[in-house]
Amino acid sequence: MTRQADTLEGGCTCKTVRYRLESMPLFVHCCHCHWCQRETGTAFALNAMIETDRVMLLEGRPEMVLTPSLSGKGQKIWRCPECRIALWSHYAGAGQKIAFVRVGTLDEAHRLPPDIHIFTASKQPWVVIPPGHAAVEEYYDRGEYWPRESLERRRRCLGLGD
Ligand SMILES: [Zn+2]
Ligand SMILES: [Zn+2]
Repeated sequence: MTRQADTLEGGCTCKTVRYRLESMPLFVHCCHCHWCQRETGTAFALNAMIETDRVMLLEGRPEMVLTPSLSGKGQKIWRCPECRIALWSHYAGAGQKIAFVRVGTLDEAHRLPPDIHIFTASKQPWVVIPPGHAAVEEYYDRGEYWPRESLERRRRCLGLGD
């Protein structure tokens, strides 16, 4: 069994909330949009997309905070009720079934480097994307970039046909 090696655990800063990812994520975004820059207070956000039912709560109960988003439909950010660290969120596009886990809250964040850099049009000029890494000025077509297995997992998760 390689399952243990494939699972990742994480949590907030005060340790009230702990969680485990039951598998590796579908895809990892490094988002350089202004919204992510403002929310994180830094140059970009690193989000691992995964089926929400594969995010297992080990301790604590995160609270949802509805936050304005670029789409205008809002982003539901789940935060620790004590230290208020953001752990994961849901966007209107993918809905509640897909979670965008904040990679920096994982104990071993280095295991999830970005699969793609998005919204590089608004990237900070001093952030240099390594040559050969996938990068797009805004958003992208999932079918062109995601591994087949992730596309199939997403279809199953959202209950979509082929
Ligand atoms: Zn906390
Ligand atoms: Zn963003």
